[in-house]
Amino acid sequence: MTISTAIPFNKPYLSGKETTYIEEAVRSGKISGDGLFTKRCHKFFEERFGFRKVLLTTSCTDALEMAAILLDLQPGDEVIVPSYTFVSTPNAFVLRGAKIVFADSTALNPNIDAASIEALVTPRTRAIVPVHYAGIACDMDAIQAVATRHGLAVVEDAAQAIDSYYNGKPLGSLGELAAFSFHETKNIISGEGGMLAINDPRFAQRAEIIREKGTNRSSFFRGEVDKYGWVDMGSSFLPSDIIAAFLYAQLENLDQIQDQRKALWQVYYTALSSLSKYGVGVPNLPDYATNNGHMFYLTCTSLDERTALIEHLREQQILPVFHYLSLHKSPFYVDKHDGRELPWADFYTDCLVRLPLYYELTPALQQRVIGAILNFYHSR
Ligand SMILES: *Cc1c(COP(=O)(O)O)cnc(C)c1O
Repeated sequence: MTISTAIPFNKPYLSGKETTYIEEAVRSGKISGDGLFTKRCHKFFEERFGFRKVLLTTSCTDALEMAAILLDLQPGDEVIVPSYTFVSTPNAFVLRGAKIVFADSTALNPNIDAASIEALVTPRTRAIVPVHYAGIACDMDAIQAVATRHGLAVVEDAAQAIDSYYNGKPLGSLGELAAFSFHETKNIISGEGGMLAINDPRFAQRAEIIREKGTNRSSFFRGEVDKYGWVDMGSSFLPSDIIAAFLYAQLENLDQIQDQRKALWQVYYTALSSLSKYGVGVPNLPDYATNNGHMFYLTCTSLDERTALIEHLREQQILPVFHYLSLHKSPFYVDKHDGRELPWADFYTDCLVRLPLYYELTPALQQRVIGAILNFYHSR
């Protein structure tokens, strides 16, 4: 008797050293923030990706909230955000009283339609927040050009974009600020966790202060000031060194993790591109973008088709998932939105489905997923 095992959407990958490093952190006697492992992680990111300065945070959400504080947003300031994203992207700015102006996605992929941004700029606009969906770069030259013309900041939501590139430059190094996530569903994980990359040196010192409850504690520990106190607004955005210890074990295996994820992604891509004859889309990578193996998705031709496909796969113990719901139609924002239609955001809301993709997905299991999808379309 064979019972087919369920194929989950995601399974957190452990390199094996996580608990060793956590034990080391615990034994060191210093487990609050900015300990030995936090410093190792910071050094890794700065050296590997050339970010000017990075600060680990407790989540990408927190990194985005730090960015919103750093930009000194005032109530009524406007921030341009794609509608097809996670709630944290706009919510960080809403917490500062900003008005969110939602932009549509492109027809090519769920990233923000750079060509639509300029028409959304008003005298109150302060920032653009591109989200590199599935780790695939947004059209950053076009976005930067609008930002430069109107004096706007660019904050990259690079939550899914570790080790991915735009014209050879690492994502997260292009905006003044960028936010990464190490949530267990991302490529590199620490359970919950995140990081702010600070590419504009103007924000470097204040970022440390905001992360340390509004105090100049970091300067104090470097001996730059002889006492520390309350110098700005802030919060507690820094993770325990236990989290950093876990993360460091992952970082040591970054290349191995990325190679494996990209290989799995390529197998899906090769096997499923032929579904275009049924109108089904696979991820589209513009020439300027790389793939980091974060996510493999299909776009179905309708909501009904997607529902039927998910149902068909679930019957075979395969657990794909859809993704975001257009935020301009969310219960929280629908009344605040200016009423513009954002048809591509709605298209991805209805039609996008993400396939199981995790380090330990074996070739046999992946073939089961592919076979079930092909079977669904061939027998329709
Ligand atoms: C995962 C994710 C976030 C949130 O990350 P957390 O670390 O869970 O706060 C924000 N934006 C995008 C695009 C994400 O994928």
